[in-house]
Amino acid sequence: MEIEKEKSVRVAVRVRPLNEREKASPRPSAVSVATKTHQVTVRKKTYTFDRVFGQYATQKDIFKGIVQSVVDEALAGYNCTIFAYGQTGTGKTHTIQGSLSPHDENAGIIPRCVNYIFEKLQATKSEYSVRVSYLQLYNEELIDLLGENKKGKQLKLLENANRGGVYCHNLEEVTTLTASHVFDLLEIGSKNRIMAETLLNDSSSRSHCIFTIRIHSKESSIPGEEMIQIGTLNLVDLAGSECVGRSGARNVRAREAGSINQSLLTLGRVITALVDKLPHIPYRDSKLTRLLQESLGGRAMTTIIATLGPGKC
Ligand code: ADP
Repeated sequence: MEIEKEKSVRVAVRVRPLNEREKASPRPSAVSVATKTHQVTVRKKTYTFDRVFGQYATQKDIFKGIVQSVVDEALAGYNCTIFAYGQTGTGKTHTIQGSLSPHDENAGIIPRCVNYIFEKLQATKSEYSVRVSYLQLYNEELIDLLGENKKGKQLKLLENANRGGVYCHNLEEVTTLTASHVFDLLEIGSKNRIMAETLLNDSSSRSHCIFTIRIHSKESSIPGEEMIQIGTLNLVDLAGSECVGRSGARNVRAREAGSINQSLLTLGRVITALVDKLPHIPYRDSKLTRLLQESLGGRAMTTIIATLGPGKC
């Protein structure tokens, strides 16, 4: 079944394999998947999505099944975002990043997108440039994973219509012409991410990581006329969905403990408002949604990959 092209918000589910602990349990799995009908059944309740990937789905299946068409849209000048959403330990980082070796079968969405973008640009465009940035958002604080954060350089969100609405002031945006340069930057970014997570004491489950690829290219479909196209692809590894809290904003104790994540909570509200076509979309209520405003809703394409652990426990 084809995914509807005109849909601006698409949702896929990826169920990871049982881990050793789950396998050892007497009735291990609580989830079954029907890929043809795009359905997931959890404890006798069945839900339908735009795409469903079971435990045998490979990283390549994910890329071909739901990511490649999004990258094509970004190459055509659209603003696109792919989120991995799910509880900690369900495979968000595996899905969005995976192995950073470009030809490893475990390479996730980011390395596959990088390879695909440069292959396409080299084959089809006479002139292009690619800019990348890598940002971590922890407790509504912005951390530049490619730049120097220590030298008093404060990252702030500012508004500027010429720069496409809200942008992150002082964020390092590196211009690159080859995929291998991006892989070098990714190595630096992921080392900085691990360092930041260690310093911030297990922020991996509570922080969001946003890898952004901005593609500038010259389009000359009409002879003699050239047009600059700018497409953006945001690849986002979200905080663990357990950080939203079961009772949401009303859970005062969880809020005091800092375990409710404002950005994740707002993202849920924004997506719901977009899907319900509400007149007011609360982008301004969190840094994540302010930052991604231009890439959510409107003519932008948003894809959510909800990751799920199948274990009954
Ligand atoms: P999260 O980012 O949601 O906390 P991880 O991506 O770190 O979760 O995944 C937790 C563990 O499960 C890792 O060891 C990862 O390699 C493994 N894993 C997750 N998804 C898959 C999958 N689809 N296939 C194989 N292993 C997976």
